[in-house]
Amino acid sequence: MSPKANHPDVSLNLRVRGLSQSATLNINERSKQLESQGRTIYKLGLGQSPFPVPKPVVQALQAHAHEKAYLPVKGLEELRQAVANYHCRREGLDCSAGGILIGPGSKELMFILQLVHHGELIIPIPSWVSYAPQATIIGRNIRWVTTNAKNQWRLTPEELDAICHDDPNRPRLLIFNYPNNPGGTTYEIDELKAIAAIARKYKILLLSDEIYGELDHTGKHVSIARFYPQGTIISSGLSKWCGAGGWRLGTFTFPKSMSWLLEAMAVVASETYTATSAPIQYAAIRAFQGGAEIEDYLARSRQVLRLLGQAMARRLQAAGVQMPHPKGAFYLLPDFSAFSKRMHKRKIDTSTQLCERLLQDTGVATLPGTCFGFSSEILCARLAYVDFDGTNALAAIAHTGANKKDEQAFLETSGAALLAATDRICEWLEKTD
Ligand code: PMP
Repeated sequence: MSPKANHPDVSLNLRVRGLSQSATLNINERSKQLESQGRTIYKLGLGQSPFPVPKPVVQALQAHAHEKAYLPVKGLEELRQAVANYHCRREGLDCSAGGILIGPGSKELMFILQLVHHGELIIPIPSWVSYAPQATIIGRNIRWVTTNAKNQWRLTPEELDAICHDDPNRPRLLIFNYPNNPGGTTYEIDELKAIAAIARKYKILLLSDEIYGELDHTGKHVSIARFYPQGTIISSGLSKWCGAGGWRLGTFTFPKSMSWLLEAMAVVASETYTATSAPIQYAAIRAFQGGAEIEDYLARSRQVLRLLGQAMARRLQAAGVQMPHPKGAFYLLPDFSAFSKRMHKRKIDTSTQLCERLLQDTGVATLPGTCFGFSSEILCARLAYVDFDGTNALAAIAHTGANKKDEQAFLETSGAALLAATDRICEWLEKTD
């Protein structure tokens, strides 16, 4: 008997089958494959932190390797307290351990949030690769908000208002991410206030994805939760600023008024992953406690990223490529539209073809704009500038003075592969004549 297409299990299967494995993970596997064939590959595809986990945090993990018991579903009490203290310290927010949910990566927490919250998903173009597929798997409606290159592809309050005002009472979840993946951009305080005001006006549930907050290149990240505390959940974790993506630990910070949502998510957590890995949770306490050694590590990480991002952006811009100025995280979003005529001549009409040809011709692995919601004819790609030795770079930056000569020396050593990749792209663009 053939299954009926409208059977709920079948339609869920179809939704999942219509999707392929996460694009970022695919590019990583593809790059490894080409490397094993002897090709030099510049790995600018996967956005993985190159920095080592800070020493005190590794030591804390070692000291807790024996922890073997299942921990509470919402997370270890001491860790929830450390995360709450961290947000109070950093943002002056009124949060307590009871408002913190620990999960095996913020990605998993986002999925569960989308599962339990019955609202449509609002995400700007461009957005991180997994928000939309998660909504598709669950069967939620997605409203993409268009942004524009002039505003560096960042969300404006007007754009947000425009998609809400026709149906003001509809339940909505906005995922707002800054420093931004893929744009490398961030927002000024006035811009955050204006977006918060629209979110408040329409009672939008705002998930502020601040996983790169500590990697704002100036170290002055401000959470939008300050301006819309009653409706904002802050998403963070160890993956980016602590260099520990593979440890799988994410955090959600809820306002008191939303404890019902935290409880609902905990029900799903209890029936799925049970609790986050015990030794990792103990180690994370140390990470969120912070202190001088971790601050020093972060200051150096930011300086490394700032120098590398700016140097690459300058070279690409000099070659005629447009892109937002890098302000945080480790991404550049070059737009090759200025070269579209030459590209079309070479049968490059989509961003996927662009990235495929870049990989084939230059060995530079990138991700096409389509992965982030851009329509395929927009010739842009994301470059994750993470192909460098994070341990050496942190050591080298400590001896780098704030002068051109030292910075150049740093770039030529620690940034050699990234600058070579940038040069290859620029030479390739010249050749498209
Ligand atoms: N949000 C953004 C913007 C990301 O780039 C990532 C990881 N690439 C995540 C969330 C998920 O991070 P994790 O699950 O490792 O906490």
